[in-house]
Amino acid sequence: MSVALLEEGPPDSSPYIHIPGAYYKTAQGPLLKRLPWEPPPGLGPSATPTMVQASVLGGGSSVNAMIYIRGVPSDYERWVALGATGWSYDDVLPYFKRAEDNNRFCNDVHSIGGPLGVSDIDYIHPLTRAWLQACQQAGLPYNPDFNSGNQTGCGLYQITAKNGRRSSAAVAYLKPARGRSNLRVLTKTTVTRIIVENGKAVGVECIRNGNNSILWAEREVILSAGAIATPKLLMLSGIGSADALERQGIPVHVDLPGVGQNLQDHIEISLIYQLNGPHSYDKYKRPHWKAAAGLNYALFRGGPASSNLIEGGAFWWGNKSEKAPDIQYFMVVGAGIEEGVDAVPGGNGCTVNLGQIRPRSRGEVTLRSANPADTPVIAPRYFSDPYDLDAITDGTMAAIDIMERPAISRYLTARQTPSPMIRARDEIKDFCRKNAHAALHPSGTCRMGEDEMAVVDPRLRVRGIEGLRVADASIMPTLISGNPNAVCIMIGERAAEFIRP
Ligand SMILES: Cc1cc2nc3c(=O)[nH]c(=O)nc-3n(C[C@H](O)[C@H](O)[C@H](O)COP(=O)(O)OP(=O)(O)OC[C@H]3O[C@@H](n4cnc5c(N)ncnc54)[C@H](O)[C@@H]3O)c2cc1C
Repeated sequence: MSVALLEEGPPDSSPYIHIPGAYYKTAQGPLLKRLPWEPPPGLGPSATPTMVQASVLGGGSSVNAMIYIRGVPSDYERWVALGATGWSYDDVLPYFKRAEDNNRFCNDVHSIGGPLGVSDIDYIHPLTRAWLQACQQAGLPYNPDFNSGNQTGCGLYQITAKNGRRSSAAVAYLKPARGRSNLRVLTKTTVTRIIVENGKAVGVECIRNGNNSILWAEREVILSAGAIATPKLLMLSGIGSADALERQGIPVHVDLPGVGQNLQDHIEISLIYQLNGPHSYDKYKRPHWKAAAGLNYALFRGGPASSNLIEGGAFWWGNKSEKAPDIQYFMVVGAGIEEGVDAVPGGNGCTVNLGQIRPRSRGEVTLRSANPADTPVIAPRYFSDPYDLDAITDGTMAAIDIMERPAISRYLTARQTPSPMIRARDEIKDFCRKNAHAALHPSGTCRMGEDEMAVVDPRLRVRGIEGLRVADASIMPTLISGNPNAVCIMIGERAAEFIRP
C-alpha cells in the first residue's frame, strides 16, 4: 500500500514554527490564510474580519499556540447522544493516551512513549504566576491538570512540545515516516476536486506548480483539509445539498444536506491592560532582550523563547447553570501578540483572552461558485443564539474581577480595552458584541452521526460514497470545551485504525 499526502501550503521549514516563543510570528505570518466571513449583524468593526486557517505542512498544529486540551467527559457523551456511536469518553481516552508522550504525567489518563510531545512549559513568566494567584484570590481553585477529566479552576497549560521544540502533527507523525519508500509528500499542491465514479472516490484533481494533474487512489481518499476547506471540497465534488449544488451547476453524486452546516467556533474577547513597568514579554521586542532570550534558547532550549507566551489559564463559569465551566481564560503575557489584538501605547502590556467554550450558535459554509479558486461563503453566525453573548458577558465580568485582585493589580497602570469607564453589565455586553473575534477553532461542518444531516458515519466514512473518509475538525458533532488540536490528533489516531487493512 502506498500513501500520497497533498498539502496546499509550503513545507514546515520556517524556524519560527519550531520555537514555541515564536508563536507570535506564526500566529500572524504568511503561513496563515485569511478567509473573509460574513459578519453577523451587530458585530463591530474592530471584530476580526477574517477567519484564519493554517496553510503549511502540519496545518494548524504547525502554527497554533500549542495549548493541549482534551475537553471534559460530557463533551463526548454529547457526541454519542448526537449519533457518534463508539466515541464516548471511555472510547476516546485510549487514543489520547496512545498519541501522547507526556513529560509530567503517566497515570490513568496520561501516557508516555507516544509520538506527540506534551510538556510543561519550561519557563513560566512571573506575571503568569501573579495572575494565577489573583485567580485564587477570586475563588478559583488551583487545578494541576486540565486534562484529568476535570477542567475547573486555574493552572498552567501543557503544550504540544518536546524538549523545548514544537511537536506538530508533521513533526510527531510525518517526520519519522518520511524515509518510507511508500510515502509521497507533495507540498504546494492544491486539491480542487475529488473524482467520484459509480459512487466511489477514485482519485483527486489537483494543481501543482500551476499545472493541473490527477492522482488516482486505489483504496481510499482521506480528506483532512479542515472545517472550512473540507466541506468546500466535498461540495465542489458533487457531495452536498442537491438543491444548492444544482444551483451552482455541479453534478450531484450524493444528496448530503449536512455538508457545510453545523459550523461552530469559539468566539473570543480580549481585555488589554497597560503595565506599570516591563513586566511582560513585550520587553523582548527590544533587540538586547531578544538577543538574550535567543542565546538562552540556543544554549539551553530554555528561557522565554521556550514558552508559548500563554502559559496560564482557567476554566470557570459564565452561565452558572452549566455543570462544567463554560468559559476558558488565557493569560497572554504581552499585548498585540495575536492577530486582531492591539498592542498598548508605550509598549508594556498584557492580554486576557476568554472564550465561551460550548457555543450554541451555529453557522454554515456554502459555495460562492463552482470555481475552486473562489473562497467559500463562511457565515459563522456568532451570537445568533443569545445564550452565547450572555455567557461571555458574565465571563468577561469575572475576568475583570480577577484583574482587580491585589496579586495582579499592583502591576497594572490601566485597562486599555475596554476603557475603564465601561463597568455595568449592559456596557460590557455591548463591548463583547462589538469586539468579539474568531478564536480560530472552526469545527463541525461534516458532522459525524447516523441521521439525515450527518455527513460521515462513526467510522468517518462519507455517507453514500465508497472509499472516502474525513478526518479533521469538521467531523466533530459539537466543539469540545477548549482548544481543539488535541482532539484532531485523537481523531487522526482513530482514523488510522479504521483505515488500516
Ligand atoms: C493561530 C492559531 C492558533 C491556535 N491555537 C491553538 C491552540 O493553542 N491549541 C489548540 O488545541 N488549537 C489551536 N488552534 C486550532 C487548531 O490548530 C485547529 O483546530 C486544528 O489544527 C484543526 O485541525 P484540522 O486537521 O481540522 O485542520 P488544519 O490543521 O487546518 O489542517 C488542514 C490542512 O489542509 C490544508 N488544505 C486546505 N485546503 C486544501 C486543499 N484544497 N488542498 C490541499 N491542502 C489543503 C491546509 O493548508 C492545512 O494544512 C489554533 C489555530 C490557529 C490558526
